[in-house]
Amino acid sequence: MTDRNYLKQLRVPTKDEPLRILMSACLAGTLCGYDGTANGEYPSALKLLPYENVRITRFCPEEFSFGTPREMCDIHGGTGIDVLAGRAKVLTESGEDWTAGMIKAAEKMLAIAQQERIELAILMDISAACGSQVIYNGNRFAENKVYQIGAGVCAALLQQNGFQVISQRDFASLELVYAKIDPAHPIDHTKKDHHEIDWYRAYFGV
Ligand code: SF4
Repeated sequence: MTDRNYLKQLRVPTKDEPLRILMSACLAGTLCGYDGTANGEYPSALKLLPYENVRITRFCPEEFSFGTPREMCDIHGGTGIDVLAGRAKVLTESGEDWTAGMIKAAEKMLAIAQQERIELAILMDISAACGSQVIYNGNRFAENKVYQIGAGVCAALLQQNGFQVISQRDFASLELVYAKIDPAHPIDHTKKDHHEIDWYRAYFGV
């Protein structure tokens, strides 16, 4: 869950000292999705690209380890935290075990975040790698696909190392980021983060 106090306390970035954001490459429009697309178009993330006082570092962990196109994969038996702890696996839709490759990708993403001194990660939710609020529990192509609360492997490793991760669906948090980047941006207080929307509350009973 997003730490809004952290976002409120972000410094005001300038052209010379831009806000350093790590973004899922697909969210920035790179065609690195499993099927060679950008997994759709997400204006909430694309909006950040043109600003001179923002520096976006794009990375696709799955492309790093498995190339594009590739099979779709999901976490079985837990969340990203469980994968990192050796209690859960990452399996492709055909049952191939990608756990080791996914952990390697997460370590690479963490190394990039540290090297670039990232101040905020904005990652694609639902992904077994990049998800931060909601991921699938098992195979997403199963007849009774199931969602769970939790982070994917790469987002979890970033969080464990002190990085703030939000998704393109955390609209309330993004409002705070937009206002930091552009002081003329009026914060829309009606926006909600993913864990605050009706679907999330109804599905998870929270
Ligand atoms: S691994 Fe992350 S960056 Fe790559 S396609 Fe999936 S969600 Fe996008």
